[in-house]
Amino acid sequence: LFVEHPLGEAQQVPLSREQAHYLFGVMRLSVGNEVALFNGTDGEWLADVAEAGKRGGTLACREQSQPQWMPPDLTLYFAPIKKARTDFIVEKAVEMGVRRIVPVQTDFTNSERVRQDRLQAHAVEAAEQCGAVYVPEVAALAKLGQVLRDWPDDAQLMFCDEALAGQEQKADFGAQPKDVPWGILIGPEGGFSDAERARLHGMAQSVPVRLGPRILRADTAAVAALTIWQTTYGD
Ligand code: SAM
Repeated sequence: LFVEHPLGEAQQVPLSREQAHYLFGVMRLSVGNEVALFNGTDGEWLADVAEAGKRGGTLACREQSQPQWMPPDLTLYFAPIKKARTDFIVEKAVEMGVRRIVPVQTDFTNSERVRQDRLQAHAVEAAEQCGAVYVPEVAALAKLGQVLRDWPDDAQLMFCDEALAGQEQKADFGAQPKDVPWGILIGPEGGFSDAERARLHGMAQSVPVRLGPRILRADTAAVAALTIWQTTYGD
């Protein structure tokens, strides 16, 4: 369970109404039962239910079960699509071990509004479900042009584009530095515009990648790209 409270020896962690409902109403836990907690900084702690009520409760930290660890410095940039598919991308990105998620507005972005708070709540749920001890941050919608203008010299960008001809794809995807910040960029349903492609091809830090000869939906492409990146550069 993710909590916004310090964790440590003898810490008493208060529960919100929603957390109490989940633990005692849905999961049917009661006083004395064990819960694993994380807050993104103190690792994972095992805690016992000390008080259980309808509107709240308290968990008493007992022992640390995992030290704090962080995923690689990997950010997923994607153009938001339909609600359910955007939710899917956020959930899978958390499971696949990104540190940050940034929805980007591109020339052909389908949806120009994102509910950052909703997506962040999905990220919390996904982190709880997959046993992570951190929750990736979901940023507000950013403009792709601005993201590229601010791109640090030492960071690499895996630029996923179905329109790459074979010779444009870097054959040496595994040859870039590992211990630098990385981004993965997935375009919208309409793909990238010619101007965006020109900008991305002209950028020294951009690594164009084609994920096979078929056109993947953006959500499939995100999972495929994350898998390839983790296989090549992940721990
Ligand atoms: N514009 C395309 C079309 O309608 O022909 C489709 C874009 S695709 C649905 C959405 C995004 O997924 C693309 O912008 C790209 O980032 C990624 N993508 C899909 N298939 C890909 C592939 N085979 N290789 C690399 N990226 C791919």
